[in-house]
Amino acid sequence: MAFDKFKEECGLMAIYRHKEASNLCHLGLHAQQHRGQEGVGVISQVDGKFHAHKGIGLVSDNFADFDFKKLPGDVALGHVRYSTAGDQDIVNVQPLVSELSFGNVAVAHNGNLTNFDEMKEVLKKEGAIFSSNADSEIVLHLLSKEPASSPPIEALISAVTKIEGAFSLIVLFKDRIFALRDKHGFRPLSIGKIGDSYVFASETCAFGILGAKFIRDIKPGEIVELTDEGELKSYFPFGNNKSTPCIFEHVYFARPNSKIFGRQVYKTRLQMGRELAKENPVEADLVVPVPDSGVPAALGYSQESGIEFQLGLIRSHYVGRTFIEPKQSIRDFGVKIKHSPNDEIIEGKRLVLIDDSIVRGTTSKKLINMLKKAGAKEVHLMISSPPITDPCYYGIDTPEKSQLIAANKSIEEIREYLEVDSLTYLSVEGLYKSVESDVGSYCDACFTGNRPVKIKSGKKDSEQLGMFS
Ligand code: SF4
Repeated sequence: MAFDKFKEECGLMAIYRHKEASNLCHLGLHAQQHRGQEGVGVISQVDGKFHAHKGIGLVSDNFADFDFKKLPGDVALGHVRYSTAGDQDIVNVQPLVSELSFGNVAVAHNGNLTNFDEMKEVLKKEGAIFSSNADSEIVLHLLSKEPASSPPIEALISAVTKIEGAFSLIVLFKDRIFALRDKHGFRPLSIGKIGDSYVFASETCAFGILGAKFIRDIKPGEIVELTDEGELKSYFPFGNNKSTPCIFEHVYFARPNSKIFGRQVYKTRLQMGRELAKENPVEADLVVPVPDSGVPAALGYSQESGIEFQLGLIRSHYVGRTFIEPKQSIRDFGVKIKHSPNDEIIEGKRLVLIDDSIVRGTTSKKLINMLKKAGAKEVHLMISSPPITDPCYYGIDTPEKSQLIAANKSIEEIREYLEVDSLTYLSVEGLYKSVESDVGSYCDACFTGNRPVKIKSGKKDSEQLGMFS
């Protein structure tokens, strides 16, 4: 079953100088499982020596009954990842580790390097032998070229100023850890503290499970260095640049209880629903979310419009990632196994159906058909973000442009295809009102085509870049 959504990218987690580092790291990754379900890795460090446990699949698949004595030490770095099709190889599971002249170094990466192909070719010509397809391996190869006498921060600055695109990175040396975001700040990365120990995570929802206190976000273009002495230093090697964090983190990717780019995601999604109601009032009986991602915006729509909120679709939380789909006997099996109509609630009712986005439209069409069959009198589909017209090149797996329904059909044509009574999207202006920012202050390229970073990998617009990390 092709899931008709953008695919989350990756989640990072690090714990520095805590006696239960590896166990806490795996818990923090568990809280960020939504950012990648196809591979997990945790490495720990004792006196510069790394210990690793990696596997394909979920955190719980790989760490149930795991003996954390196999990951000793008080420093841990972890990663959950999503991989593109056919790339579920263990060699690509991060963190990646290399023995360099500085000692052992480990890297975990979230994002997508827009000059990945170019850099890889240059490094290969210079003799580098790549053992994975992960973007983060570029960083290790670049570090390997730095003189052993360079202080780690200088070596790291020299390496990361050669890469371009979207990257939040955590780099672990023997006696210090670095956490950084690219100059545009596409992907999130935050600092927290448990007692005297520092923790780093892609999303602040990981801090909750650990009982960690949120300290602050790492700023776009900032490298944070944490030394063994507990000193936190900050560097800005990329110069001044306009930051453009990914607005889709607020629309769909991040967990609602995370604080992303300084804003609570749940409150932002409520506001998206309110803005949608202001822009698109309609006569209806019930507001129904497509669970789970449409729930906060549907609540916001209900609060603003005064139309009653009801769970007209029920989602199963026990859907495995793989199952054998009957070929002909049960139509739309994939959608039905995940969502069921709440017949008695929706029968004879005019529904405002709220979802966060439409990618291909195939799932939306099946859900609408399901609601109509269950007796809904009218279905007015409202989307709490603008039409998706362009693929993402900054760390999100998206279909080719030819597969994006809004890139190929007008809104009226999409309405006809979906067989809904009306179809409306939140405007770009409404989206920015929801995040209380000026238009253009985030990356919104998948909605507008305005790309903050040019693509250098020599690929056509319709092709994906590199390996999503
Ligand atoms: S193109 Fe869309 S998904 Fe990609 S970084 Fe920009 S806003 Fe996020």
